[in-house]
Amino acid sequence: MYIKQIEFTNFKSFGKKVRIPFFDDFTTISGPNGSGKSNIIDGILFALGLSSSRTLRAEKLTDLIYNDGNKNKRPDFAQVSIVFDNTDREMPVDADQVTITRKIRETDSGYYSYFYFNGKPVSLSDVHNILSKARVTPEGYNVVMQGDVTRIITMTPTERRKIVDEIAGVSEFDNKKERALNE
Ligand code: ATP
Ligand code: MG
Repeated sequence: MYIKQIEFTNFKSFGKKVRIPFFDDFTTISGPNGSGKSNIIDGILFALGLSSSRTLRAEKLTDLIYNDGNKNKRPDFAQVSIVFDNTDREMPVDADQVTITRKIRETDSGYYSYFYFNGKPVSLSDVHNILSKARVTPEGYNVVMQGDVTRIITMTPTERRKIVDEIAGVSEFDNKKERALNE
């Protein structure tokens, strides 16, 4: 499984609709400071709901909506879609291509957040469940942020062991066991 394409609509510095293709094995993104490289990573964390323990570098969720400084013309929603190639069926769905979408909409009474799986509305925990089958989790290291490497180097061996368990997929079962024992 790999990310084939990301589609941004009004997300952070990506006004209107922007499509970014990714390659199978390796993709690097380069560009001048402030051109939006990290915003692409923020988009992945946002759309997949992986941002709980990480920062999206925004004070509030609505700051993620594209803003060109003109308050009246600001769009009222932001949307990010991650298109996965699932020909290897790492996600247990019978589809070669899987699209996970998140949209936030700002209204006078607050903001609303929606997730979609191949176009169908789902909950955040549905998204987490399906991604965890492919060993993509909010606690995991599928996304390595700036500073993470230094943090791992300075950790205690027990803390580092937890990360290995997470990557190996052991902790999912540890968590389930602990929950079952508590019931
Ligand atoms: P660096 O090389 O310095 O790490 P970068 O390519 O990672 O830069 P980003 O941090 O992704 O750059 O992009 C920062 C830019 O995104 C800033 O110019 C900021 O103004 C813009 N930006 C962030 N949020 C919004 C928003 N809601 N609307 C419009 N622009 C935004
Ligand atoms: Mg950056």
